[in-house]
Amino acid sequence: MHEYALSRNLFDLVEQEISARQVATPRAVTVKLGNLLAVNHEAFRLGFELASHGTALQQIKLNIENIAGRAHCRACGESYPMSEWYSPCEHCGSFDRDVLAGEEFHLVNMELE
Ligand SMILES: [Zn+2]
Repeated sequence: MHEYALSRNLFDLVEQEISARQVATPRAVTVKLGNLLAVNHEAFRLGFELASHGTALQQIKLNIENIAGRAHCRACGESYPMSEWYSPCEHCGSFDRDVLAGEEFHLVNMELE
């Protein structure tokens, strides 16, 4: 499943960060999730809990920052919000666009003790 794969991915990222920076296990991590990825936050949290179960990362608090989708229309030049991947331009109905935001999947912050 999409959410489990992504949360597993996040778990690996956090582990890599900890060993690369040689820091202690963080208290909390913040991840940016673009809404165009259509990630169910509850399933994502659960996936992270499963991935970290029995490891040093088990107690980490997971903060999820939702990033709203936004696109720039190549047909009419307007920008518009995208609630999902199949949202056409709300000004002219075109699907010819550059996605500006909403595809994020980044570890943005680790809160250390
Ligand atoms: Zn347009």
